[in-house]
Amino acid sequence: MTKPMKVAVLGVGTMGAAMARAILRSGFDVTVWNRSPEKSTPLADAGARVAADPADAVRDADVVLTMLFDSGAVLEVAAEFLPAMRDGAIWMQSSTIGADGMRAVGTAASRSRVTVVDAPVLGTKDPAEHAALTVLASGDGDAVDILRPVFDAIGSRTIVVGDRLGAASDLKLVCNSWVASLTAGTAQSLALSRAFGLDPTLFLDAITGSASDSPYAHVKGATILEGNRAPQFALDGLLKDLRLAQATAGASHKTPYLDSLERLYAAESDAGHGHDDVAWVYDAIDAR
Ligand code: NAP
Repeated sequence: MTKPMKVAVLGVGTMGAAMARAILRSGFDVTVWNRSPEKSTPLADAGARVAADPADAVRDADVVLTMLFDSGAVLEVAAEFLPAMRDGAIWMQSSTIGADGMRAVGTAASRSRVTVVDAPVLGTKDPAEHAALTVLASGDGDAVDILRPVFDAIGSRTIVVGDRLGAASDLKLVCNSWVASLTAGTAQSLALSRAFGLDPTLFLDAITGSASDSPYAHVKGATILEGNRAPQFALDGLLKDLRLAQATAGASHKTPYLDSLERLYAAESDAGHGHDDVAWVYDAIDAR
């Protein structure tokens, strides 16, 4: 019998913790590390080894999975773990950091002779818990193939975007600008329903089953109507991604639509609600 692959998960926030649990359930040997150590405790109870620092986490790992907030965090933590990775181990970089971030990651990895795969994910906490993410992968084809069992542990679908490091990150930002549109669009129609004196549930009812229906409108619509602020996806995370998309596209294109979305999400973040769910862009739209 072959030994289970050893996976180190660095960053067990909302997404990293859910992904680590899914990887454990698939029978991998999992080690976790998180800057705030208390977040690792529930994973220790689920069977993971908890490492004292990033270098300790990766020492025996076949795969090192990073799920940290932004490129600054990834590069900071990588400076600690890259020198400790063993020969042949692969770095699976899943944080949303954009193609520029992946370029910096690629440079850091190659200095340590480590192969890194660009592997951002689509889906929030619940899909991550239920191994139902979509993995977008780009980079070295052999490394992508080696990572397939890990992709299958966290996701129901993998899309190989190509061999350019950063191509998967570009597609991730394309998809997250869609998420930002759907969320703000749902919030706008609920706010408009209220402004017209209509029961806002009528909007969700009216689109059900039509060509303009979207499961996401129902999920975010329910979040708004129930007044639930707990983050499935925190607003500051989506704001970061809109800004990454603006910066990447803005180098060669005007971005008037992204700019107006960014202003809405930024207004809600500036009002102190960056840790609430993305659905609460609603407050910036229904600014009565
Ligand atoms: P989160 O809950 O805020 O977790 C962020 C993680 O990054 C935490 O482990 C945090 O550590 C760590 N971190 C932040 N700055 C750090 C630093 N300077 N040094 C070390 N660790 C640092 O965020 P999340 O929702 O899990 O998202 C993680 C990544 O996945 C982000 O890039 C996000 O855009 C992306 N993503 C999120 C979703 C979603 O729906 N939530 C979906 C797909 C992709 P502490 O615990 O110590 O703060």
